[in-house]
Amino acid sequence: MDIKHELSRFVPATISQDTTDLEDWEKAVLDKLFDASKIMNNIFLTQVYSKNPEIKKKLIEEGDTDKLKLFNQNYGPFNRLQHNESFIEGYKKPLGANFYPEDITKEEFENFLKENPKKKEEFKSHLTIIRRDENGNLIAIPYSIVYKEQLERASELIKEASDISENESLKNYLSKLAVAFLKNDYLESDMAWMDLDSRIEPLLGPYEVYEDELMGLKACFEAIISIRDKEMTSQLKKLESISEELEKNLPIQIVHKEKRGQYSPILAVNLWLSAGDGRAGIHFTAFNLPNDERVRTKKGSKKVMLKNIGRLKFENCTEKIIERVFEKNIYEKINFNSFFTFVVLHEVSHGIGPGFIDDPANSEKQISVNEALKEKYPTIEECKADALGAYNSYYLEEKGMYEKGFAESIAISYIAGIFRAIRFGLKEAHAGGNIIAYTFLKEQDVISYDSENKKFKIKEQNIRKGITALAKELLEIEATGDYERAKSFISKYRQPPTELKLIIKELEDIPVDIMPQYEKDVQ
Ligand code: ZN
Repeated sequence: MDIKHELSRFVPATISQDTTDLEDWEKAVLDKLFDASKIMNNIFLTQVYSKNPEIKKKLIEEGDTDKLKLFNQNYGPFNRLQHNESFIEGYKKPLGANFYPEDITKEEFENFLKENPKKKEEFKSHLTIIRRDENGNLIAIPYSIVYKEQLERASELIKEASDISENESLKNYLSKLAVAFLKNDYLESDMAWMDLDSRIEPLLGPYEVYEDELMGLKACFEAIISIRDKEMTSQLKKLESISEELEKNLPIQIVHKEKRGQYSPILAVNLWLSAGDGRAGIHFTAFNLPNDERVRTKKGSKKVMLKNIGRLKFENCTEKIIERVFEKNIYEKINFNSFFTFVVLHEVSHGIGPGFIDDPANSEKQISVNEALKEKYPTIEECKADALGAYNSYYLEEKGMYEKGFAESIAISYIAGIFRAIRFGLKEAHAGGNIIAYTFLKEQDVISYDSENKKFKIKEQNIRKGITALAKELLEIEATGDYERAKSFISKYRQPPTELKLIIKELEDIPVDIMPQYEKDVQ
């Protein structure tokens, strides 16, 4: 593997850690959180691969800076962009990372649970690792024991941060988190995280399970420390207060029979530090947590959007795609602001439209749209949130919330985003909704391809009509819960036309992501 080439796919981008606007106690809290984040980072490194610490040490001793950079980006010698192929000879990543014995198979794990049903809970827990005892028998060990020393230290640091905090909700979250590390149970701290109302917005602990490709069970440690974005937060509050109006303005009329479920707040923040799982490979721009169903039923979940990361990705990657795909008169209409506002409207639009509907199989019963559309739901719902996000922008402009012309910029940002989403491959799951949008909008004469100069054209006068038609179609599918209609809609529009295949090749040399550079870093 060409290390230099692999590195060139990421653009180094500095994340500002400026704290001049913060109070002294807030700065002191950040210092403690920084130290605790370092612990999260080191635990995650060993969760990915047992030999990671020794490989890292060797790379530092050898002074191989390029390899070390790629190692840090991937948290190990396995290239996350190349299906975990190793870029240092002699290593192979186990499917279950370092959560299971390296020689275990899925069958062995599942058979063990069949034979020992009483052990199911501890073995399937997100917060245990699986090992063999001296006789070769499988055992489950809680994280609080596996990483005892590190988590005890993290607990102390977080307790100190809690003592310093002058904000009650932050104090509460941190004090609960200090206990969670020791008890191996994050229920209380997750609940307190949902109630956070402070300028510093931290999240530490074990959350996502994607690293465990064997069983998809074991959670990875991460730290995401952010500062709330004032301007975006007030914009989001405004959107929240207007959401009933947006509901009434939908292109179809919806009668809600049951409450839509838990309310999920959306936050806009600027990332101050990411560590561990939250930073491995492609950096995320938003996350939705906690995953714990006990918290979700009681309090819903919280969507956090990282505005500064979004901006860096836009400037270093997305903007370059847009410039290559469109003529100047089109790409000049979009900028980071229109792009980010579109992403915000996408999130808001997830919460608008049908939630619970009459069961198509039994009209006496109410079911969620998700249950009705089954495996087709994620594609339909993502596509809906996109189309409806752009659709809503026109209403918000008419209401005076945006300057004249901004809705069009948002809608074009939506269409431009299609090209960013498909560049990782037309077969990838998240390309689905975007290909559907493309082919639908092409049929509506909104977008077309000029094969001579290899650019895409947008007919501005058709955008609003085309997007409304798409939103209406998707909302009707959701409101009726018509599984067959969802299926035939997807199979009709999910076929990528040749021009999309061609353009992916044209975009290959554009960097895929940023590589965060922190002045004060944990790596
Ligand atoms: Zn979404």
